[in-house]
Amino acid sequence: MSKPLIALKNVCVHIGAKVALHDVSLSLTSGEIVTVVGPNGSGKSTLLRTLIGALKPTGGTLTHRPNLRIGYVPQKLHIDPTLPLTVRRFLSLPQRVSDDVAQKALQDAGAEALEHQQMTSLSGGQFQRVLLARALLNRPHILILDEATQGLDQPGSADFYAQIERVRQQFGCAVLMVSHELHVVMAASDRVICLNGHICCEGAPETVASAPEYRALFGSGTHGALALYRHEHSHTHDENCAHDHNHHHADDQTHAHGDHT
Ligand code: ADP
Ligand code: MG
Repeated sequence: MSKPLIALKNVCVHIGAKVALHDVSLSLTSGEIVTVVGPNGSGKSTLLRTLIGALKPTGGTLTHRPNLRIGYVPQKLHIDPTLPLTVRRFLSLPQRVSDDVAQKALQDAGAEALEHQQMTSLSGGQFQRVLLARALLNRPHILILDEATQGLDQPGSADFYAQIERVRQQFGCAVLMVSHELHVVMAASDRVICLNGHICCEGAPETVASAPEYRALFGSGTHGALALYRHEHSHTHDENCAHDHNHHHADDQTHAHGDHT
């Protein structure tokens, strides 16, 4: 197996006094599609923001390949509806990109027709493609997506996943995504990580689907997504994540804020 692109070892992340992630170890290698599932508040977005370097682990280590490029599609991005902003200009925020680079990224994301549209005029699916284009600007080794199909209807969401698959084949990048669409997750992931503050279980989709920890979270049917929000945590963790709970990271709070309104 090739050397991982990025790896977390026994990572803990505190947000304020709260333990958002506890003793998480994982690694990603080129070309694999890994999906993170877990109930609301289980630390999925925190995990992704830790990987992109927006949050600092308060324990454990993060290592990555030198010059690793990551493309990130956040869970939520609010654009002021009164702000005139074309797709083309949006792609140049915060960093200017050339027309060639912008057009190429839009093409790669299946959004080439949208270049001159206003951001606020886009449908949900178009908006996500533009976010995807933005994440592809730097030709990432890893594409990280946080609930990218939230709010899309079923065909819209299937289209979007098909686009992700094309991107992966074309770039050969790894894909790490959070998704609640369990049937898609099961069909399209090499590996599933079931998160609930820590990694409850992980492995090939079939393996995870039959794991008792997964069933406790999601119920036994692959469509038991509603069980997601009524999870009762029955197993215990080793609390080997000793940490000074009063140690605040001002940066983390700021970064975390925009994604959590
Ligand atoms: P998920 O993405 O799985 O829904 P998050 O990673 O967003 O979960 O959140 C994990 C935990 O950290 C939750 O308990 C949440 O309340 C807390 N948290 C996340 N961001 C903030 C923040 N900016 N301020 C306070 N608590 C936060
Ligand atoms: Mg989240």
